Amino acid sequence: MLTDTRSRQVVLKTPAQIKQMRVPGQLVGETLAELREMSRPGLSLAELDRYVLDKFERLGATPTFLGYHGFPHAICASLNEQIVHGFATERRLEDGDILSIDLGATIDGWVGDSAITFGIGTISADAERLLRATEESLYAGIDAARVPVRKGDIGAAIQEVLESAGYGVVRGYVGHGVGREMHEAPNMPNHGRRGAGMRMRPGMVLALEPMATIGNPATTVLDDGWTVCTKDGSLSAHFEHTIAIREDGPADILTLAD
Ligand code: MG
Ligand code: MG
Repeated sequence: MLTDTRSRQVVLKTPAQIKQMRVPGQLVGETLAELREMSRPGLSLAELDRYVLDKFERLGATPTFLGYHGFPHAICASLNEQIVHGFATERRLEDGDILSIDLGATIDGWVGDSAITFGIGTISADAERLLRATEESLYAGIDAARVPVRKGDIGAAIQEVLESAGYGVVRGYVGHGVGREMHEAPNMPNHGRRGAGMRMRPGMVLALEPMATIGNPATTVLDDGWTVCTKDGSLSAHFEHTIAIREDGPADILTLAD
């Protein structure tokens, strides 16, 4: 999701706070894995949303997206040419669809934010390749996020994987800092120039979230005011993890299932 975080301060988290952030993070990772497992032709997006609402209610977790600037669902469910912020409608999954599910959880005031894209039934080789490259670009960004590193290095690492595979990099929607709020400073674009931008510091917690397109990365928003699609109707994919930058070594991924 997008908000303008440019004017805000970067809030560094202590190791104890990062440990707390792992709690909503793990719930998000675990729940996304379950949603993927459940997803099959005939199941509706609304049923996936209902699963999350029920599970979170049982566990006392808050679905972060529900009501966020009026967003009406717990999950963002974005199909095929939809990139992000899709509605969890009564639309039923069909063989060959690719589905992005983005999910946020808030527990004890801390937010975890993650997204996956996967195929329903049998998908085309082109779609399969897009999914693999987009996930790979996320891990390239995560791998780059170790000090000393600048913001541009992380964006460049993501961009290089996607562009070398021939994909478009969505520019208008970006990753972000995350903590007590879902969208904190800094914005984390999925493109960048090596050596440029702010120095990233230990204690920064970031949601990296590459969005890639098979065709042109220009976007348009549906009449619902939320669903972001490719203008040319080409397929897109989206992967996201919440990570914490450490004193040394690789970033800590907070949204793994366990
Ligand atoms: Mg997200
Ligand atoms: Mg996010």
